[in-house]
Amino acid sequence: MAAEPPVDQECVEGYLFTRTPPSVLLLRRPPRRGRIWVPVSGKVEPGDVSFAVALRRELEEETAITDLRAVIPLDWQVRFEGPDGRRWRLQAFAVELDAPVPPRLSPEHDSFEWLPIPTARDRLYYSDNREALDQVAQLLGSEPGATDPETAGGGRTPRAVIVPRMGPELYDAVRAGHHRKLALQVPAGLVRNAHDLAAELREAVGVPVVVASRACFGACDFPSASETPGVDGLVVLGHAPIPNVPLERTTYFVEMRERGGDPEALAAQTEAAGVPRRLGLVASVQHLDLVAPFVAALERRGFTVRLGTGDRRLQYAAQALGCNYTSAEAVEADVDGFLFLGTGRFHPLGLAFAVTKPVWSLDPLRGEVEPPIDRAALVRKRQLLVAQCRNARRWGILVSTFAGQNRTGTALALQSRARARGYEAELLVADRVDARDLLGRDVDAYVNTACPRIALDDSDLYARPVLTVPEFRMALGEIPLEPYPFDTYH
Ligand code: SF4
Repeated sequence: MAAEPPVDQECVEGYLFTRTPPSVLLLRRPPRRGRIWVPVSGKVEPGDVSFAVALRRELEEETAITDLRAVIPLDWQVRFEGPDGRRWRLQAFAVELDAPVPPRLSPEHDSFEWLPIPTARDRLYYSDNREALDQVAQLLGSEPGATDPETAGGGRTPRAVIVPRMGPELYDAVRAGHHRKLALQVPAGLVRNAHDLAAELREAVGVPVVVASRACFGACDFPSASETPGVDGLVVLGHAPIPNVPLERTTYFVEMRERGGDPEALAAQTEAAGVPRRLGLVASVQHLDLVAPFVAALERRGFTVRLGTGDRRLQYAAQALGCNYTSAEAVEADVDGFLFLGTGRFHPLGLAFAVTKPVWSLDPLRGEVEPPIDRAALVRKRQLLVAQCRNARRWGILVSTFAGQNRTGTALALQSRARARGYEAELLVADRVDARDLLGRDVDAYVNTACPRIALDDSDLYARPVLTVPEFRMALGEIPLEPYPFDTYH
């Protein structure tokens, strides 16, 4: 299997946008360059220490705009042959401004316009620019201001409040929020205790508390305003906030921190299990408080431990989410293996897809080290599935409307790429992706743009194959089977 060809030149492009009014800035090339409309773009220079730094430099050079509200990497890259015949790769960003300020143009452009998204989409010359712009449209669609003021605490700005566990700290914070009605969401493991916890909360804060009964999908899945009418505050147990997921209402994240386990004994077990001494450590949010003493114990035994900082979807260094292991990827080059600190197989399995170094796991409550996961077998199984899907002509593209799983822009881009190759591809939209809703459809295979773990962990529930986004691109022949990429949700 061929490896993905190397890149000779990295490039960045930026879509400057405002929420009020919803608009995007386009620049026009001068006549010698075709008078086409484009976003800000440019090459990554040797002195740029990251794509974001390169983008800020290009923005300053091409527009003199430096006052940026947010720089948001889009889930979109494109490879193409540059004018010099070399292999170029372009990484797109959305750049939010507070207001549509006029740029100071460089000689690279002769005009500019702030445009509504549909007009900008028509104006853009390149199809890959239009696909990236669809993701900006998706960001605008998830604007926090779209929240129903009736259920959003009388128009107050929703906040994320983090507390380590149930108790006085939580109750004080909730009382200070002056809510009318709360909803409590608990993870599957605490369902038996949900009613007692709701009663405890109700008594402590003195307002009505309803229990969200729908099963919690994961850290990005909160009850929506329409599921819990009249509720102006959420109490979510067992999860940390996901910084890039907008909140509809003030949400109290009770992380259920668990110190659990003796660091010295756990370090001794890690050493006895033959875990590599150049080690990357990743943990679930419940066990993050154990990380520092455990690392110190490992280092006393001669380990060198690296903790990585992930992207904007992760609240903490060394944290893992089932859809995002960028904290591990950040240190992969410096380690010989990873250790996941936490319970269950969900996170270690995802980590094994995301990194190529071997993955051990340590359950700090049971004090047991599990042997490394056979990544090659996991990947082989997925590649076989991709190979089976190469004959699929009719595709269903699964889209979730949950705020933390909504990749409509990606789905639209995949649809246009599939159609350009002569395939049928239809978007199937739901809040929660459910195999039962797909029964009886005349579709050969699905690509899932919602939680990436649906394709990897739940595919046996579906009557037709379900691929991740990169697997779909493999099936279309756009990228090779190796190296196998995890469908990271950024
Ligand atoms: S997308 Fe999936 S893995 Fe990621 S936070 Fe949501 S439920 Fe968890």
